[in-house]
Parts: sequence; structure tokens; C-alpha cells
Amino acid sequence: MAKVLPPVQKNEYYDVVFEDLTHDGAGVAKVEGFPVFVANALPGERAKIKVVKVKKGYGFGRLIELYEQSEHRLDAPCPIYKQCGGCQLQHLSYSGQLHHKHKHVKEVFARIGKVDINQVTVHPTLGMENPWDYRNKAQVPVGEREGGLIAGFYQQRSHEIIDMERCLIQHSINDDVVRGVKEICKQHGIRAYDEQRHKGWLRHIMVRHGYVTKETMLVFITRTHDFPNKKVILSEITKKFPHIKSIVQNVNDKRTNVIFGNETKVLWGSEYIYDYIGNIRFAISARSFYQVNPEQTKVLYEKALEYANLTGEETVIDAYCGIGTISLFLAQKAKHVYGVEIVPEAIEDAKRNASLNGMTNVEFAVGEAEVVIPKWYEQGIEADVIVVDPPRKGCDETLLHTILQMKPKKVVYVSCNPATLARDIAILEQGGYQTKEVQPVDMFPHTMHCEAVASLELINR
Ligand code: SAH
Repeated sequence: MAKVLPPVQKNEYYDVVFEDLTHDGAGVAKVEGFPVFVANALPGERAKIKVVKVKKGYGFGRLIELYEQSEHRLDAPCPIYKQCGGCQLQHLSYSGQLHHKHKHVKEVFARIGKVDINQVTVHPTLGMENPWDYRNKAQVPVGEREGGLIAGFYQQRSHEIIDMERCLIQHSINDDVVRGVKEICKQHGIRAYDEQRHKGWLRHIMVRHGYVTKETMLVFITRTHDFPNKKVILSEITKKFPHIKSIVQNVNDKRTNVIFGNETKVLWGSEYIYDYIGNIRFAISARSFYQVNPEQTKVLYEKALEYANLTGEETVIDAYCGIGTISLFLAQKAKHVYGVEIVPEAIEDAKRNASLNGMTNVEFAVGEAEVVIPKWYEQGIEADVIVVDPPRKGCDETLLHTILQMKPKKVVYVSCNPATLARDIAILEQGGYQTKEVQPVDMFPHTMHCEAVASLELINR
């Protein structure tokens, strides 16, 4: 069979119009239907590109000349935007970003919609009034340059640390603490960890800030157990930052890219800081998972609660419950909530958070949702509403089939990946559910991440 050559060739120039964005924020143009990905290009833009690499079904190009630029194009406000890579969409206006995420969810539904889910109402993305300073957690690698400490981020595709004074999507308090701690440690002769030689001491600094309580936690991730000049360092830090309530040391003595080691000890103050999402109080330890954008988390969970439409009589299952955030939200309005999660430490946090809020109508189990929920079903536990919030790969098919057997009146699907959301919804629709509406919520402004919550109702019993 004659080999079909791609319609583009390496080192050739083409005039193109960009139609879409890839998952990492590059522009997508098609040359005779053949997709070419070009960094820093936006949908609607017309440009000359040079093709630099051709693969089997797609190619990569470089932007040579922009003939027509998008009305949504901006100069990225962050001076280190291109080096960092943490954000992908700062060159697109915020309204352009929200529009793109809305369009993306709709397109994915239409593409994967084997049933009539392309009829589903997808609402415009709920964005933030101020889409900056939103992250409550900073986690920065520490290195050395000319004898001094630097802390910031790894340059894209390298292990070179770039020093950073300010990250525009980070709460400024976290940046202040990182800067202050770096300065104090430098004055007291702290050496940074050296990856190459596996020498030195300070590997990472993590800071977490409670948006509502204004309490801050500082974590030193170090190679060894000792802490040189500990007394003076801690005293200077706590004097400079009175909002710090907890200082913790985590020891990671391995040659690894994984940030945390297994040992964690409190150096000063409390083991936890607290924060609220809505009326619910959470205890957050150094290793706890906690949503990084608390303001939008509240928006997302309130939407999930609205879709669950609880009256106080319902039994609810929260699958993939993490530290029980959604479970506790639902428990305010439900008769009983069962949460299930695979990470044992998260379930310990979930139980602690339930008692912290005096909630007795919720219980948690450790295990795989696709194993535990079928067992519950066998034991006679049947939910009126099931909420799922799986990782990017979506729900396990066994779980979806258990839902189809159990037949809860409602399924509320919280998703961080529209593609697997649409795939799983197609299965639920074939089994008798109808998707009522989908609400994208912007949890991570200026990045490509796209979160959405969908409401499904049982129509064929
Ligand atoms: N609902 C929580 C966490 C959602 S993140 C919140 O909003 O905070 C998805 C969670 O699913 C993670 O905590 C992950 O540990 C968990 N998880 C992954 N695979 C799982 C499985 N098969 N069964 C149960 N939980 C799982």
C-alpha cells in the first residue's frame, strides 16, 4: 500500500488560522485537516508558521509572523511567565479563558456524545471576580546561587531553579513567607540541598495559608533530621510572621523528585492550621490534601449541593471523597452520608473533620470506590443521591455499573477532566439517566485546568 504523506513538511512555511488550544495551551491549526501545534498562538489568529517536527498524525510548528491577532490577546502580566510554565493562558484575557473552557466542555460532550448528550445545557464557566492571588499553598524548591539561597520553581523541562519573588496566582502572604524564610535561613548559614551530590540540607519550603482564618503553616523539607541554628531561625520567623501558627519539618533523605519524605515532626506551634469552606471547618496538617483555591471550591461544592437537591431525608454516597470536603457539605442537608476514598490518611482527616464540625450523620470507609460501593449495595445500603469526584482518569466502569444497579434518583458528577466526564456520562445515559445540566467552574485561572459539575437524573427505572 502506498504510504500517505502528511500534508506538511519539516522546515516548510505555511499560512494558517488557529482553531483551538491543546491541553497545554498551544494553538492548534489545521493544514488540509492535519493538526499542527504552535506555542503562544490563540484561536482566531492568522499567522505564518514554520513546521519544526512532523509525527504520524500531527506536527509542531513555530510562530513566525502574526498577521491577525486575537482581540483576547494580552501581554502576560507575569514577568517570568514563559520560563515558569505553571500558567499557560496568561496571554489570553480572562473572559477569553472562561469562554475557551466553556467551549471545550461543549465540544468534548458533542464529540464523545454517543447518546443525546450533545443536547445538554452547558452553562458559561463560573469564573473569579479577581482571578489572581488565589492559591493557598506554595511549594518551592530551594537552591543556591553565588553562596546565597534561592527558591522558586524549576525552569520548564529542566532542574534549574529560578529564583522567584512573586507568583501572581499565589496568595501574596505565601510569597512573603517564602521570601522572609529564605532571607532568615541565608543569614544563619543554611545550605540548600544539592541534587547532583545529594548533599546540603534544605530541599523545599512549603507554605499554606487559611483564607478565612488567616492562619499559616510553614513546612521545611530537609535531607537530614538535624536543624542547624534551629532556635534562632524559628524565633526570627515567628517574630516576623505572627500569623504563622505551625512550623513543621519533613525529612526526605532519598534521591528522588518526590517532594515529601515519610517523617514529619512539629517544630513549633500546632500540628494543624484551620480553614473554612462555607460553614465547615477543616483541620489541615502538613500532609493533608486540601483544595488549593478555596474560594472557587466553595462555588463548586455549592453547585454540587444544589444539584443534589437534598431535603434532609436522603442517603447520600460521596465517592472519591478525599478528606470528606464534599461529604461534610452534603451532610448539612442529608439524612446520612457515606464517603469512600482510597488514601487512608485522607480518611483519618475526613473523620477528624466530621467530629470537628459535630457531624454524626456521616461515616467514612477506606478503599476503592468500585470495590466498597458494590459491597455496600450487597449489604443493603442504597443511596438516593451519589456524588462522584474521581481523578482525571474518571470513574471505574464497575462503579458506573453499580450505580446503574443501585439506581439513585440523582448522580452529581464533579470532574477535573471533561473528556472522561463525557465518556462516563454516556454510559450512565445508556443505563437510564438523563443529564440535566453541566456547570464548568474555573478552579485554576490562567491554567488549562477545567473543572465541571454535572447533574444527572434517573428517568427509566
Ligand atoms: N472529593 C475530594 C477529592 C477529589 S480528588 C475533594 O473535593 O477534596 C479524587 C480523590 O479520589 C483523591 O483523593 C484520590 O485519592 C481518590 N481516589 C483515586 N482513585 C480512587 C478509587 N479507585 N477509589 C476511591 N478513591 C480514589
